[in-house]
Amino acid sequence: MQTLTPNVRMADGTEVPRVGFGTYRVKGGATGDVISQAYKAGYRWFDTAELYDNEAELGAAFAHLGIPRSDVTLASKVWNNHQGYDATREALHRSLERLRTDYLDVYLIHWPCPEQDTYVDSWAAMLDAQREGLVNSLGVSNFQPEHMQRLFDETKVLPVLNQVELHPYFNQARLRTWHLEHGILTQSWGPLGQRSGDLLAEDVLISIAKEVGKTPAQVVLRWHLQRDCLPIPKSSHAQRITENIDLFDVELSEEHMRAIDQMHTGFRQGEDPVQKNNA
Ligand code: NAD
Repeated sequence: MQTLTPNVRMADGTEVPRVGFGTYRVKGGATGDVISQAYKAGYRWFDTAELYDNEAELGAAFAHLGIPRSDVTLASKVWNNHQGYDATREALHRSLERLRTDYLDVYLIHWPCPEQDTYVDSWAAMLDAQREGLVNSLGVSNFQPEHMQRLFDETKVLPVLNQVELHPYFNQARLRTWHLEHGILTQSWGPLGQRSGDLLAEDVLISIAKEVGKTPAQVVLRWHLQRDCLPIPKSSHAQRITENIDLFDVELSEEHMRAIDQMHTGFRQGEDPVQKNNA
């Protein structure tokens, strides 16, 4: 069954799907099948990055499947070693070429890497690329309020989206409030807690799942949506790919939502963006 997700409007007026498909580690021979399954299941936002080394495979898969370019939201990210004005422009052109497209819907700075102090230069390159029609919407990833504030102070333009690690163990409550106050959408990476087996085995989630007739993964993804976050779950299995987008016939109660909020432990899978350097 195909579920097309409802859209949400970003601060620049662009409408994007509320659920996206994560492609980290989607690589190699199975890529075409995975993308085909995700498209058939109804995903229309595909998240990739220079780092994932799969842009060319995704580009080939979209072409092979004959997916109209206007039918999908394509997002990619500039990697840390390509920050800076010229390097970011070059990285964007390479991403476009590999993805076989002449524009990206969304382009993100992958990490701020504050120590190398080049993310504002990347942002300037992205603003120029946007003026030239190479990118529709500009966002960031793993940015903290001070990094986004600096972008605004120096260029008068805030990102429309920040893609950050977010799941019940690490719910980013403070950052989400800042985003809300500044009209920035929160997109959740690692929405299912990545490869940590523990999250989906939590009693709280199993019990809510039984109550509402969904799986623990669907309960978690529904929690993201009801907290106005855009999850980009990744799976390579047909049944999970379908399960992870079948979220729009259920509503968690306030009580469920609060119980999941309380699962926050501060445990994060990824690095602390303030500490992460160019690696
Ligand atoms: P995720 O939370 O989506 O977890 C993926 C894993 O969860 C799968 O490999 C599978 O083992 C399991 N899973 C998926 N669906 C399931 C289901 N229905 N039931 C049980 N288990 C299930 O983690 P992720 O892939 O790391 O994050 C999603 C996407 O976010 C990535 O693919 C990538 O596109 C993006 N990402 C971005 C950053 C960043 O720094 N911006 C970092 C990591 C990931």
